[in-house]
Amino acid sequence: MQKLVDLSDFTPITPSAPIAVASHGGRAKCLQRLIRLDMPVPQTVALSFDTVRAIAGGQMIDTERLLAGFGPNTLVSVRPSSADPDWGGPGAILNIGMNAAMHAALEVTHGDAAADALYLRFIRAYAIHVARLDADMLPSGEPSAEALAAALAAYEAETDEPFPQDPARQLAEVLRSMARAWEGTTARLLRQAKGAPADAGLGLVVQRMALGLGRGMSGSGVIQFVDGVTGKPQITGRYRSQSQGREAVSDAQDAIYLTRDPRGPSLEEECPEVFAALKRHGATCRTHLREEMQIEFTLEDGTLHILDAVRVQRSSRAAVRIAVALANDGVISPEAAVLRVEPRALPELLHHQVDPSGPRDPFARGIAASPGAATGRLVFSSAAAQASAARGEACILARRETSPEDIRGMHAASAVLTERGGITSHAAVIARGLGLPCVVGASGVTIDNRHKTLKTADGRIFREGDTVTIDGTAGEALAGAAKMLEPALDDAFHALLGWADATRDIGVRANADTPADARMARTFAAEGIGLCRTEHMFFEDDRLTVMREMIFARTADDRRAALERLLPMQRADFKALFEIMAGQPVCIRLFDPPLHEFLPSDREGLRELAEALDLPLSDVTRRVEALSEFNPMLGLRGVRLGITIPEIYDMQARAIFEATVESSTTAAPVVPEIMIPLVSAKREVELVKTRIDAVAAAVRTRLGRDFDYRLGVMVETPRAALRAHEIAQHAAFLSFGTNDLTQMTYGLSRDDAGRFMGAYVSQGVFPEDPFHTLDPDGVGELLKIGAERGRRARPEITLAVCGEHGGNPESIAFCRAAGFDYVSCSPFRVPVARLAAAHLALRDSTQS
Ligand code: PEP
Ligand code: MG
Repeated sequence: MQKLVDLSDFTPITPSAPIAVASHGGRAKCLQRLIRLDMPVPQTVALSFDTVRAIAGGQMIDTERLLAGFGPNTLVSVRPSSADPDWGGPGAILNIGMNAAMHAALEVTHGDAAADALYLRFIRAYAIHVARLDADMLPSGEPSAEALAAALAAYEAETDEPFPQDPARQLAEVLRSMARAWEGTTARLLRQAKGAPADAGLGLVVQRMALGLGRGMSGSGVIQFVDGVTGKPQITGRYRSQSQGREAVSDAQDAIYLTRDPRGPSLEEECPEVFAALKRHGATCRTHLREEMQIEFTLEDGTLHILDAVRVQRSSRAAVRIAVALANDGVISPEAAVLRVEPRALPELLHHQVDPSGPRDPFARGIAASPGAATGRLVFSSAAAQASAARGEACILARRETSPEDIRGMHAASAVLTERGGITSHAAVIARGLGLPCVVGASGVTIDNRHKTLKTADGRIFREGDTVTIDGTAGEALAGAAKMLEPALDDAFHALLGWADATRDIGVRANADTPADARMARTFAAEGIGLCRTEHMFFEDDRLTVMREMIFARTADDRRAALERLLPMQRADFKALFEIMAGQPVCIRLFDPPLHEFLPSDREGLRELAEALDLPLSDVTRRVEALSEFNPMLGLRGVRLGITIPEIYDMQARAIFEATVESSTTAAPVVPEIMIPLVSAKREVELVKTRIDAVAAAVRTRLGRDFDYRLGVMVETPRAALRAHEIAQHAAFLSFGTNDLTQMTYGLSRDDAGRFMGAYVSQGVFPEDPFHTLDPDGVGELLKIGAERGRRARPEITLAVCGEHGGNPESIAFCRAAGFDYVSCSPFRVPVARLAAAHLALRDSTQS
């Protein structure tokens, strides 16, 4: 066997030994910290990444010399030590050094039972993990002299050699098998999926075994001082007499409680001094390691040994509570607390969640379009959803896809499931705005509206009224009512986000269409409304009829009359938004969608419309057909409507200005922001601006009050980005609508992309769904060009993003780097954006 001769092959862990996470891994470093804190850690030696790599490559260290350092007749364990414990690694192997001689010695000192158990365990572990024998080849059952003899015989029969007796050889083989396991393809892929770099190293620690089997009070356990699900202070864990490793947790049958418990005996009662020492060590870990740790300990004939300490596994809500508690206790700084919570973890706190400890019966999987979970009875139409809401019954709206007509149904539903659609499909965007759990593009599901059934890929049938749960966080639909966790918008959540706000340097606004959305935006401390999609105000029952009358008007006068009736409703909407937002900016987008979206598409709807408008059905049908377009998303919508039917924008501008006057006081004037959608040419902006200025002048004269407003442009077409310098001449701000901009840059329908996006991403055509994560290369380049040209023409111009990407941490990083002033996203994504923006600022400041 080739040996490395370098003396730095292994490093005894002492308070001053050169041990670092980057060279020896997190476990080795943590053990050194525990040793520095005077904790009773058994003697330990660390092998560096380089040494382990050399072992995997066929070399070997001098294991005899290593073991000699532990003294005679010592058993040792080997555990993995990677830079990040989440990257996994081979399992620990205990009791190395067990052989016939050691067995005989232990029979005398620890008794037959302990000696048999220790030897048998080691043979099993060695056979399975080192010799790679099938576990079934080895006898199972209680340890005994016979079982031991059978295991030795089985080993020899399978490997054609007796069980190795030389501890140095045993250790060498264990080290080799662990080093090679780390290099295996599956292990590599698994850790890379968790963010490990391709060349991530593995360290190993060799530790003297504290025997939890044998004389007196012997056993092992784990203890932690917070609850991993709630994050609240609470001692949890288990202790098991006559056990080793993590058996107290993995096989808790005879394990006892740690603290006094009416259900049974506890370590606190049976061994109060040990319990007190553990509490002391826990407190020391918290203050000195600045983290909530789980401690693994062993009692060896009454003496306490601390074998290891690992970061407590925690849910997202626990992560927030733990970080805030550590900062409140002065253990870490508020900035460190902010950095300890991943922005993506926050949605879990904002909504109900399916409790991971409960049973789960998924019947469909799709795109996780809006997080959270809700249970209700299945309905297949918006009318049924509204009826259900009227009865006070929670319902889940299942549709093939949703259209604007479904908005009322979505308002009434507790969650939404669609057969089709992608991450920015109508259902997904609206659900995120409303904070409704939503799964879109549920693969294999067939929704039959006529028979009110939902059929799954494997033939299960769900009918109207069946109880189901939508898990929008996981992208699954579950049969029945799942066990739920409550949202956690508690003091810790608000404290953490308050600290985040103090550090970030890019603004965060909310996309909010209704007063309810605006209130939600305030709850989540958005700095204003970055996008109010006004068309969503027209879907209320009474307004829809007037809207349709407006669409069907034969003359400009008729149209004006219908708009006159919409005016007070819009004015009231805007007034409510201004008042709720209390002086914060409100950016109102003028009407955007194609008109046909307000018209029915089925015969029944057409008949109802003809009746409501008192027109012959044939007339109505003809008008609806005349309005239909081959490609409405690229047709008569946005500013194109504003130019061809200018009365709509006139009415909206008037409503905005009148609401401005009504909501302003001398001390607190409202300065509305008005945004023109789907612009592609400077002249469009000029035409609209001229009319809006005229409306403003008319309102000023009529009401005898002055006011300011800011007019801006939505950059949603590639041409608008390219010609931003011209457009900026007439715009106080440019807000990039990255949903349409992505659609048009790729030539990819945002409503249909869900059908093939999965295949595209899995085959690496796109690294990610560009509707979800901003495409930094193509769409991003347009953003940069638009921002740079706009700013050059008008240096004081405000730059923003208001597409769905506004709430995505990578996209926020992009916008911040490109010098944008703010991002705007659905209210429920505002906390994620605030925290993500704070992370970016803090990381920058620590790097500079
Ligand atoms: C956009 O296109 O990015 C946008 C915000 O507008 P909408 O999603 O309403 O088209
Ligand atoms: Mg748009």
